[in-house]
Amino acid sequence: MTGYVLRIDHGSPHVGPGLRTAVVLKGCPLRCTWCDTPESHRSDPELMFRQEQCVRCFECFDDCRLGAISASGGQPVVDLNVCRWCGDCADGCSTDARRQAGSVMTESRVLAEVLRDEALYRQSGGGVTFSGGEPLLQPDFLLRLLETCRERGIHTAVDTCGAAPAGVLDRVADLADLFLYDLKHLDDGEHRRMTGASNREILDNLRRLARRGAAVRVRFPVVPGMNDDAVHVRRLAELVASLGFRELDVVPYRRPVPGTYEALGRPNPPAALQEPEAEAIADLMHQMAECGVRATMVRRA
Ligand code: SF4
Ligand code: SF4
Repeated sequence: MTGYVLRIDHGSPHVGPGLRTAVVLKGCPLRCTWCDTPESHRSDPELMFRQEQCVRCFECFDDCRLGAISASGGQPVVDLNVCRWCGDCADGCSTDARRQAGSVMTESRVLAEVLRDEALYRQSGGGVTFSGGEPLLQPDFLLRLLETCRERGIHTAVDTCGAAPAGVLDRVADLADLFLYDLKHLDDGEHRRMTGASNREILDNLRRLARRGAAVRVRFPVVPGMNDDAVHVRRLAELVASLGFRELDVVPYRRPVPGTYEALGRPNPPAALQEPEAEAIADLMHQMAECGVRATMVRRA
């Protein structure tokens, strides 16, 4: 079986207990206006192009065995109807102007990467975290990987936005040891405005996991001016406490690496978005503590 993988990070902190291998899968049903990983949005691999780094050597013409690259306006342009994402043009580009985001990987290739770190998991109390994008968008691939990890006694976490059919969530919950569960906004209108999708399924799924007693750690991505007002913070903490979860991770918004959106040919997030101040995060965590929820700040990998 194969799946679409953006990248695999080894020895990652902040994505569950201990040090972990983060298997970052491609494809996401949401389009958060602040997303710092837009290359994870589409399920299939993508080619990124940083125009300012291209020296117009046109070596990539020869690297492409399918003849998918031609010159247009003095630039190398890829015909996406011909390209099969082999990555040869990116591998051969000496300036990194062309990069491939994601690849098709077999289950056994991913497992080989995961098993490489078994000693690290034992030493640090870590394991594997499947994130994205949204890992629940590739349920069969994810389930096969979770199954093997369980057989090998490797701790697994699934980092999800919760936007998935309940049946998929149930099957994953049968095999995953922990969910890291993003909650972005409790107001449905605001959630639609910020992410392009309703939060109803997300909230229903969170309640579903709570009812079955699954291990869940809610994660709150803090985006100044969008979801960090005191009323919303209190509502969110009260919901988390009412579901029986006493701890929560606060994840401060981080700006995307400059040029990432342009390299994908997409518009940048609003320039007004700012990373939160440390003091504001401390205040917010204090408000949560008053609602009986202990918040921990974690940085995005
Ligand atoms: S993308 Fe890379 S290989 Fe192709 S023309 Fe530009 S610098 Fe040369
Ligand atoms: S990824 Fe492969 S097929 Fe696509 S343009 Fe580059 S070399 Fe050609």
